[in-house]
Amino acid sequence: MKQSILSFMKEFDQKELSEFDSIDSESTLPTTRAATPASQRLIEPLAALNDLSMNFYWSWHPEGSEMFRELDPSLWEKYEQNPRLLLKSVNELRLLQKSTDQEYVERLRRFREDFDAYMGEPAQPVGHISNEHPVAYFCAEYGVHNSLPIYSGGLGILAGDHLKSASDLNIPLVAVGLLYRYGYFRQSIGHNGWQEESYQDILGSELAITPVVDNAGERVLTMVHLRGREVFAQAWLARVGRISLYLLDTNIEQNAEVDRMITGHLYGGSSETRIVQEKVLGIGGVRLLRRLGMSPSVFHLNEGHSAFLTLELAREYLAANPDADFLDSIPAVRRQCVFTTHTPVSAGNDLFSTSEIRDCFDSGFIDALKLNEEELFELGRSDPDDKEEGFGMTPLAIRMCRSANGVSEKHGEVSRGLWKAMFPGADDTADVPISYVTNGVHAPTWVAPLFQGMYRSTIGDDWNKRLADPDDWAYAVDNLSDEDIWSTHILLKRIMIAFIRERTQRAETGERDTINEHQDTRKLFSPDVLTIGFARRVAAYKRWNLMLSDIDRLLKLVDDAERPVQFVFAGKAHPQDKTAKEILQQLMSINHDSNWQRRAVFIEDYDQEVARYLVHGVDVWMNVPRRPHEASGTSGMKAAMNGALNFSILDGWWIEGYNGRNGFKIGELPAGEDDEATDAADAAALYEALENEVIPRYYERGQNGLPTAWIAMMKNALATLTPQFASDRMVRDYLSRIYNDA
Ligand SMILES: *Cc1c(COP(=O)(O)O)cnc(C)c1O
Repeated sequence: MKQSILSFMKEFDQKELSEFDSIDSESTLPTTRAATPASQRLIEPLAALNDLSMNFYWSWHPEGSEMFRELDPSLWEKYEQNPRLLLKSVNELRLLQKSTDQEYVERLRRFREDFDAYMGEPAQPVGHISNEHPVAYFCAEYGVHNSLPIYSGGLGILAGDHLKSASDLNIPLVAVGLLYRYGYFRQSIGHNGWQEESYQDILGSELAITPVVDNAGERVLTMVHLRGREVFAQAWLARVGRISLYLLDTNIEQNAEVDRMITGHLYGGSSETRIVQEKVLGIGGVRLLRRLGMSPSVFHLNEGHSAFLTLELAREYLAANPDADFLDSIPAVRRQCVFTTHTPVSAGNDLFSTSEIRDCFDSGFIDALKLNEEELFELGRSDPDDKEEGFGMTPLAIRMCRSANGVSEKHGEVSRGLWKAMFPGADDTADVPISYVTNGVHAPTWVAPLFQGMYRSTIGDDWNKRLADPDDWAYAVDNLSDEDIWSTHILLKRIMIAFIRERTQRAETGERDTINEHQDTRKLFSPDVLTIGFARRVAAYKRWNLMLSDIDRLLKLVDDAERPVQFVFAGKAHPQDKTAKEILQQLMSINHDSNWQRRAVFIEDYDQEVARYLVHGVDVWMNVPRRPHEASGTSGMKAAMNGALNFSILDGWWIEGYNGRNGFKIGELPAGEDDEATDAADAAALYEALENEVIPRYYERGQNGLPTAWIAMMKNALATLTPQFASDRMVRDYLSRIYNDA
């Protein structure tokens, strides 16, 4: 068996995709029921708001947020932009006022019309992908909007943006994930600067999801064997434009109490919790799609968490082909599956012990695969011979998928090196068949509404579609006036500052501390000062401590009377990562300098909403990862699309994006061998670039009083980076290079 796997891996050639026979399901296609308490409160002409709130399309329609916000701006903020909660709570007087506001009613009618037209367009079959055989996208987290808090960071936001672009491009795709009842943790910082975590029951909130039911109105359930018993999961449907996102949830009566908590927390539990979650996602997910009558042409495993699905596909194949053995199933499974890896270090990959695998897979399942235990273990090892090696989801995925890709050009190269041992047929690392598709972000979600307004009036309502032609786009951006770009940027910066003041105020009254503990928050930040944003997970390789390596030098920049700098920080440390929490504490402890107190702020609880304000409003977006650990990074793309200049180590996406005129680099390529020496060199490069390039360029004014040279760089960033790093481009790449590559 081992030999055969190895020899199989030597064949890089792809079999004809058309050989794939779909497994038809006998079940009828269940429909969804719209249970909507809010609907009863909304009389015509506002009734449309109810439907609109049940599809996340509103979140990227230019009028969407505004239409809800206007109903009651303070409730909108209080409920963290959750339209379901808003509609449930807004008072009758406001509803009546708005229903008699002709201008509002007319805008709502047009919004509704746009939505109906958008939803009415039939999906476009591409190659072997069609409505009957869509792409099935699997991911452990989705960051569609902050009102559906089932994501922790970059991976989830990327998955959300993938769905939105698939919807805009009208590609037949369905998505599968888990509904975490307690989501990811909420962060607050205690008086001593220590991160504290709390969890909220998201079901207590109104979510824009509906139960998936069959024709008889019964909940659709899927089942997996776990912990020696049957565990059931119910399904929910979230609508992301034209895309259906199915979310599995084990919190149902049929299950034992502990099993109800399987989908409790995102990345919160033990290794055992993770493996059972991943079994529900991968195996339960395939079974759900079958139950819904679907036969996808491609299963896209976005990161290894869902890799068990390949075993379920093998089991299906063997059930349908009683004479076949496991090895026969591999080509059939591989034809259907593609894998995207997001981790550039082997330690970052999901790894389980053989005893965990043994506990997770009952003998019935292993028998059905016609494997023995040892053979199952081999599937998850990069070296099947190495009995010491744990069971890795990435080796399993690489082995069972016809394609594997990293998320930037550099990350593709790093991944080839990392997994070379799995491909004995590849003499050279360059021959390892792991490709790349560089990540992207959804422009209509991340470009600030004010910029979108400018694009609509100068470039056209179809500005997002015009990104598909980078030359056309560059030409259009070149025609924007410096004054318009700068005044729009300053307005966005003011909005961000107002948000920062508001948030820090709230944090204080909540008896929390931020770096600026004794300050009058109204004096925080100035729109005239160069503002640098640094928001990302607090993890060792992100090197938060790089800029703290010489506090005196840092404070000198902040204290400068003529050309000061201000910093806005945000980011969560993993609850179990003590070192990361200490870094945060170190940051909080810089409070002896009064300029630092009013010019540096830490925003608690980094999420999509915080990210939006920051990427819209900062002048500079800083990123200092340890090379080559940033697989791609996406926050810098969001900032670039709003005219912020990236100031970053050449790693991940920035190697591809940086052209010398659209932002700044820190340090050179390649990095040295020795981490400590590299950190010191990069820290020096960071300070030098700030002192000699970024700050002087920002404060240099032309005759018209504008920072002309800076604006030229902003324009170059808008022109070059927006089309290149739009998720529409990414999804098109997946279509042509991965999904349809036969
Ligand atoms: C975009 C985004 C990320 C990912 O950004 P990186 O550059 O990969 O750190 C993480 N969290 C949130 C809330 C985001 O919006």
